[in-house]
This record gives sequence, C-alpha cells and structure tokens, in this order.
Amino acid sequence: MIENLDNLERSHSCGALRRESAGQCVTLMGWCARRRDFGPLTFIDLRDRDGITQIVVNQEKAPNAHAKAKEIRNEYVLAAIGEVVLRDEGARNPKLATGEIEVQASKIVVLNDSRPLPFQLDASDGALAAEDLRLKYRYLDLRRPQLQANLRLRHRMILEINRYMDEHGFTQIETPNLIKSTPEGARDYVVPSRVQPGKFFALPQSPQIFKQICMIAGMDKYYQIARCFRDEDLRADRQPEFSQLDVELSFASPDQVYALVEGLFVRIFRLIGVELQTPFPRFTFAEVMRRFGSDKPDLRIPSMELQDLSAALAETMFAPYASVISSGGDIKGIAVSGGASMSRKTLDELQEFAKRYGATALAWIKLGDELSSSLLKALGADKVIDLAGLAGAQKGDGVLIVAGKTDVVAASLGVLRNEVARREKLIPETVFAPLWVTDFPMFEFHEDDGRYYAMHHPFTSPLDDDVPLLERAVNGEKRLFGEIRAKAYDAVINGVEVAGGSIRIHHRDVQQLVFKALGMTDEMARTRFGFFLDALSYGTPPHGGIASGIERTLMVLVPTENIRDVMAFPKTASAQDLMIDAPGEVDAKQLEELHLKIVKE
Ligand code: ASP
Repeated sequence: MIENLDNLERSHSCGALRRESAGQCVTLMGWCARRRDFGPLTFIDLRDRDGITQIVVNQEKAPNAHAKAKEIRNEYVLAAIGEVVLRDEGARNPKLATGEIEVQASKIVVLNDSRPLPFQLDASDGALAAEDLRLKYRYLDLRRPQLQANLRLRHRMILEINRYMDEHGFTQIETPNLIKSTPEGARDYVVPSRVQPGKFFALPQSPQIFKQICMIAGMDKYYQIARCFRDEDLRADRQPEFSQLDVELSFASPDQVYALVEGLFVRIFRLIGVELQTPFPRFTFAEVMRRFGSDKPDLRIPSMELQDLSAALAETMFAPYASVISSGGDIKGIAVSGGASMSRKTLDELQEFAKRYGATALAWIKLGDELSSSLLKALGADKVIDLAGLAGAQKGDGVLIVAGKTDVVAASLGVLRNEVARREKLIPETVFAPLWVTDFPMFEFHEDDGRYYAMHHPFTSPLDDDVPLLERAVNGEKRLFGEIRAKAYDAVINGVEVAGGSIRIHHRDVQQLVFKALGMTDEMARTRFGFFLDALSYGTPPHGGIASGIERTLMVLVPTENIRDVMAFPKTASAQDLMIDAPGEVDAKQLEELHLKIVKE
C-alpha cells in the first residue's frame, strides 16, 4: 500500500490555503491528524508544521482515493491531490486558518504508514499524556502544533538576535566547550581526558573568562549564542544544558549595556506583536527587596508591596514579635485586594508556602463585615486595625504578615505576593513589565559553611566607591563584606530574570583582592586563574557584558512555565534524556582508555 514520492511536489503547505484559492488544483503533503468516515464521504485532517487542511474524499467522484482513504490511520504520511473548494457556510471552521475551504481529493498517495501512537497528539493542554512518556517519544510530541510553533519562534528570535547584534557592530566568536572550570556557582560537568591520564576538562557553565579574554584581545564587541552546562538541582526553569546570548563590550558603561539590551528586547518582543516601552525602569537591589521581597519582581502585579509594620509594634508585649524586633529582624505585611474572602484552607496553603521559604508562621487579618485576624487575641482589635491600615488594606481586603529575619521575611512575602496574585487572578496576561535591577551586593553569606560567595561571579567589579570597603574587609573587617555593592545588573520581565551581567574588574590587583575575599590564597588563585591574572596584566580595557537566557526569554514570550516547551530535546528533572536513554554506561575498553574505574557503592 505504501507508494513512492516519485516526482510529486507539494504546491502548498497545509496552512496556506484561503478562500481566494478556491478553484486551484493543489498537492498537499503531511500527516493524517484525524480521519472521519461518513459512508460515501471520508474526511482527513492533513497536518504539517504550518497548519491543518481538511481533505474530502468522495466515493462517487474518486472511488480509488476513497477506497485508499478508508485504510488510512492517524499519523500516516500522505499526499493529497485535488481541487480547493469553498465550504458551505455552515461547514466553515473559524478556528482553523484554512477553515473556509477544503480540498476535494482526486488522488491520495500513501507515502508511509504509522504504528498506533503511544499517546494522543491532539489532547487539550490539561489532558496531555504524562510528560515522561512524551519525552521518550519526543519526535512524536514535537509534532504537536504548540511545540512546532515554539521552536519556530525560537528560530525567529535567534535570527533577530543575530541581525541586531550584527547591526550594532558585534562579532560572533565561538569559544571552546572543553575547558577548565569557570565558576558560576554550579557544579561542573567534567570530561575525562584520554591523552592526559587523570586529567579532566570541564564543560563551560558560561564562556565568562573567554569573553573577557576576547576584550583583552582587542575584539571590542563580542557575542555568541552559547551553550552552557550546569550540574545543579533542576527546577521548572532550569536544564543541565541551555543556551544564552552571551555579550561583552569594551569601554562599556552600564548605560550602554542597558540601551543595547533594551533595544534588543524591543525587537524580540515585536516578534509576538508587543511593543515594549524603553527605557526600562531601574531599581536598586535594596529597593526591590524592600518593596517586593524579590530580586525579580513581577511588576504586572498591581501594588501589593511589602509594608514595614515594625514601628507600630515597637512597644508590643506579644513575645514572638517583641523578640524579632529586639534581634533586629523585620515584621512586614502585604495587603491582598479583596482578600477578606480568603478561606481558612487558602490561608493554610499560603502558610505552608511561606514556611518553605523559612517563615515560622503567617499571620493574617481580614477586613470583612466583621474584623477577623489570627492576631486579634495577641494584639487587640485597635492594633490589628492599625496594622491593616499601615499595610494599605481597605474594607474587603486581607493582610498577610510575616515576622523574622530580614531575608526570610522578604523571601516569604515575595513568593506570597506572586502566589496570591496568581490565585486571585490579579496578573494581567497581555501586559509585559520589564525592569532593571542594579547595585547587587558583591557577596552573599552562606550560613551552611559560614563564608561569603560572589553573588554574581568573581569577575564582577565592585562599585568604585566601595573598593576601599573591599580592602578593609579583606584585611580583617569581615562584616563589611555584606555592604559592598557590585556593578551588576539583571533585566527582569514579568518576574523572570531574562538577562544578567556586570561591569568587570579590569585591574589585576582588584581581581586578586576579590579572589582573596572568596577565601583563595595567592597560590590557589594562581593554580586556578593564573592565566587570567596574567592576561589582566597586559593592557586590559575596561569592559562589561551580559548574558540572556534564550529559554527563559522564550518562556516569557510563549508564555509557558515549562522550559521543556521551548527546546527541542530537553532532559528530565533528574537530568536524563529519555529518548536516547542518556546518561548511559560505556564499555570496559572505553573506561580503560580514559583511565577510569567505576567503584560500586
Ligand atoms: N556569565 C554570566 C552568566 O552566565 C553572565 C555575565 O556576567 O555576563 O550568568
């Protein structure tokens, strides 16, 4: 039954025909998405990447084609040859771009058959088969129109990036994938060397050092769509390998970087018909943490800013709050518009949410017909009303309150702000709200091992004004580490960090100071970064740059919460490729050549 393509050629795609095409004789090729039999009439929805066209096969007019059509099953590959006809008024399908016409087939060619599929391709979003099954048969899942559209958008976005960067004088430079570790804070993927026994390459977490070396090499303006590899615990927006637009420019000021990136995002968002307004508003890290409890605030959410309630509680006898205040912590609240109707269940769920971010409890106030609050007994009605007013709540609203360490209060109210807005449907879907976050802290303290780490990466420059603080901190005044600000910036759109970068250190002595601050002795710094410290000694121009996650940006454009929707061959949350079954074992000979032995635990 399977026939040859011979010299048959497509005249149109399955998404191309409109009412103006009526009367034309066409040849379409694609997959049978659905077949419906109505006795003497058989309908086939023929699908390719562009769309779906309805093919009608009439027993009387085309008996051979009709007989063949009866044998056709889903996902058979077909050519349909026939005339485009206008559908009757009542039979038109406004949901389909080709819905005004159909093709009356005179001939059907079956180019290939298909086994019954392991899952249904046209299930609605909520009814899709389990993701693991779809990942195993990724080539089938990718036939779904949504994923096809996502990958084509990705292509157009990358094309636009290349055009834009070229127009702005940037040179595309590829950097190696087999390198030595570049510190971005995650674990490296390592590759054993066959010719250098016992030695390993690391796959780049980003091309950070190479792009800076391109500046030292006088390349001036570098970019690349770079593949990055990070062995870290996966979340919905992370993959072990991903792509980023990586950019570096010489003699760069932050303003130049902002203007470049804003212009690029304007162009990218035009691909989905959205005109972003520039310049993007700018906020310091300190300000966004204070107001929104997050370094990537979603500015689409109307108000719901964190309000400081501690002044009103300065004299409180309520022990949990008194102890927070005396230990220098924060008590903050957010007003939830219409939140007086939040149910007990909702409040319990929100409490669980806040606890995940370290909060010990979530207090609440509801300004319903009657005042109710988890704090009523402890603080009394007057104080509770006072707090609700300070939080900005009005009649009908609710207030959520967290007390504790500054960072815990910010983090838990920050996520509550997003969660409540999502539940209460307060986020307008057609709005895009970009911003810059600037002046990040240079270092962050990790409680688990009691030391400071670079918040961005160790090549980020401190603010010029803060260099003396850095010197004092390295020379013993450790508490100053927390006060040093960096020339680092992130671009955020709709609560997603779509780009991050910094002005870099270009003086060797400052770079050495930062390595010291991170606990590296001169010797350790030499072993790991000697080549880079040397390079910095040969006339390094001031420089800076940024990297923008391709997948993260696409997640905002599509929009989707699942990073696997915007890449062709993603891995699972346990870093496996279920289609090719990787990672896999290698044979004994390969291990031997690589000087490796597997130790069974
Ligand atoms: N290398 C950084 C990253 O991958 C970005 C940058 O600083 O340009 O996150």
